[in-house]
Amino acid sequence: MKVFLNGQLVDREDARITVFDHGLLYGDGVFEGIRSYNGLVFKLSEHLDRLYDSAKAIELQIPMTKKELENAVIDTLNGNNLRDAYIRLVITRGAGDLGLDPRKCKKATVFIITDRIVLYPREYYEKGLEIIIAKTCRNIKCALDPQIKSLNYLNNILAKIEAIKANAQEAIMLSNDGYVTECTGDNIFIVKKNVLLTPPESVGLLKGVTRHAVMNLAKAAGISVKGVMMKPKDLYSADECFLTGTAAEIVPVTKINDKTIGSGQPGKVTLKLLKAFQESTKVAGVKY
Ligand code: PMP
Repeated sequence: MKVFLNGQLVDREDARITVFDHGLLYGDGVFEGIRSYNGLVFKLSEHLDRLYDSAKAIELQIPMTKKELENAVIDTLNGNNLRDAYIRLVITRGAGDLGLDPRKCKKATVFIITDRIVLYPREYYEKGLEIIIAKTCRNIKCALDPQIKSLNYLNNILAKIEAIKANAQEAIMLSNDGYVTECTGDNIFIVKKNVLLTPPESVGLLKGVTRHAVMNLAKAAGISVKGVMMKPKDLYSADECFLTGTAAEIVPVTKINDKTIGSGQPGKVTLKLLKAFQESTKVAGVKY
C-alpha cells in the first residue's frame, strides 16, 4: 500500500509521523472521509470545500491548493490501483513542542490513505439498524462547533462506546438542551406523512456531504424536505427513519431505544432514496 505523505507517495511502512505532531498530541487537525465508486470520486469538491472550511475555523493553513490536493487524492488512488475506495485525507497542525501553542508548529502535516471500502453488512439494509440515544450529548457549538470535522472525535467516541455496550450499531446524540443532532458518524432523517425531516444545521451538527446529496435527490423526486428541531418523541412517532454518511450511504433504522419505528421494516421513501443515491454515484464524480 502507498500512502501520500507531505508531497510524496511512500510505502505504508515508511508513512511515519513524529510523536511531536500536534494532531497526535492534541487532536489538532482536520480530516475528510471520501469515497470512490468504480473510478469516480464522489463529491470530491464538496469534501475539499468542507476540509478547507474546517481548517479555516481552527486557523490552520493547508500548505496545498485545492487543485493540488485533488491531484494528490487521484495519484494516491492510482498508485494503489483502487477503483472502489475509501479515502482518508488528514491535515494536522504538524510537529511542535509539548505546549499547546500552534505557532510552534511550523508546517502542517498532510497525508492521504486510500483503502478498499469496507461495506456495511447487507442485513443492516434489509432489516434496518437498531440504535440507541446516547447519554453523551453532542459538543455545544460555542465550545467546539460540530461543523468542524476535527481530529478530536472523543465526543463521538464516548457515544459510540455507549452504543457498543448496548449492542447497538449507532447512537443518536442530543444537543445540550435535548434536541436530536446526529449520530456518532452519520446524519439522521425521518419521514413523516411523506415529508422528509432532518435536524437543521443550527442545532449543531456536521453538514454531511451525503445529507446534502440526499436532500437534493429528495427534492428532485418531488419529496418535500424540511430542517426541523426534533425531540426523541418525534423520532418514535416517525413513519421511517434512516442515517446518511459516506460509508453507510443511506441505511434504514427500524428501532430506537427498543422502540419500533414505523412498520419495523425499512420504509418506502428510504428505499427509493437509497436507489436514487446509488444511481447518482455511478454517473457523477471526478474521474481517475
Ligand atoms: N456526522 C458525523 C459526526 C460524521 O463524522 C460524519 C462522517 N462520517 C457524518 C455526519 C456524515 O457525513 P458525510 O455524509 O459527509 O460522510
